[in-house]
Amino acid sequence: MASSLQDGFGRSFRYLRVSVIDACNFRCVYCLPQGYCKDPTQDRPLDQNEFQNLFAGFAALGVVKIRLTGGEPTLRRDLVELVAMAKQTPGIQEVALSTNGYRLSALLPELLAAGLDAVNVSIDSLRPDIFKETTGQDLLERVRGGVEEAIAAGLRVKVNAVLMRGVNDSDLPLFAAFVRDRAVSVRFIELMRTGGNLELFEKHHISAQVIQKTLEADGWYQRARGPTDGPAREYKHADHQGSLGLIAPYAKDFCDSCNRLRISCRGELKLCLFGDGQHSLRAFLQRPDQRDELHLAVQSLLGHKKVSHFLQEGQYGNTQQFASIGG
Ligand code: SAM
Ligand code: SF4
Repeated sequence: MASSLQDGFGRSFRYLRVSVIDACNFRCVYCLPQGYCKDPTQDRPLDQNEFQNLFAGFAALGVVKIRLTGGEPTLRRDLVELVAMAKQTPGIQEVALSTNGYRLSALLPELLAAGLDAVNVSIDSLRPDIFKETTGQDLLERVRGGVEEAIAAGLRVKVNAVLMRGVNDSDLPLFAAFVRDRAVSVRFIELMRTGGNLELFEKHHISAQVIQKTLEADGWYQRARGPTDGPAREYKHADHQGSLGLIAPYAKDFCDSCNRLRISCRGELKLCLFGDGQHSLRAFLQRPDQRDELHLAVQSLLGHKKVSHFLQEGQYGNTQQFASIGG
């Protein structure tokens, strides 16, 4: 089925990132340095019924891939049910999860049984002290254990590391060694500025180009891009089973391949990670017979999606941290 979700710049949106919770048990320095703090003025997160209507409504518009994210999605008690529900939605071909890995090992058998296809695990450093410094948790071995089990179980696994100057920018050889014998993709995400991390950003931001140059000098070559690939650039090497990738939001062509829309855990559509607007769809998620209204609302909102995030011009939107929208 062709996607009805297209914007005015020729981009199609078949990939939906859905935050299922905004709480988190880690304190990543660039995201929730003081830890999660509940805002009592906020409405409750969507319930299963609302998620079911959301998944089915977007699948009917041509979405084929759903990623559940957070906050930390594994803190939600009904995560396994949500994975199963997404997977059983007609039209959805792939269900993925983004997690800090804290409960990955414990939940793995149930997630597999629910039909999970792929998992992205955040590991900013393979050095235990730096992992602890960046996440506030001394849990590298536990998280790595979950990753190894997920690989052994046949899940598609990606590891995400947020690149920070003077913190983990010297970890490249460790990550390259990690993917030598594992069919895993490690992707370095350029640190992004949010409303809440200006000081950290100015101190630690480093362009992904620096890593790109090192990779190319070390014999890594860029894998040809597929027509439906998102903005990540993947690099392969003759001696390595896995791959290394770069997510470089400050690169000038980054938005050309944008293929995703985002939903907050309260049912707000966010057209761009860095945009100002979030538009509540909650009123259209109460019953399955409100699907036409949902479709009209989403298609009309998509008309407001901008060609680029305009980050280079210093615009970074109203997001305080990505835990609220899922990164
Ligand atoms: N808690 C889960 C996790 O950490 O994987 C899922 C939510 S987290 C917000 C999703 C992704 O956003 C993670 O890979 C995280 O490292 C990334 N992220 C959060 N804040 C970021 C920032 N300011 N710049 C770049 N990446 C960021
Ligand atoms: Fe939590 Fe993920 Fe944010 Fe880290 S990046 S604080 S694990 S939501």
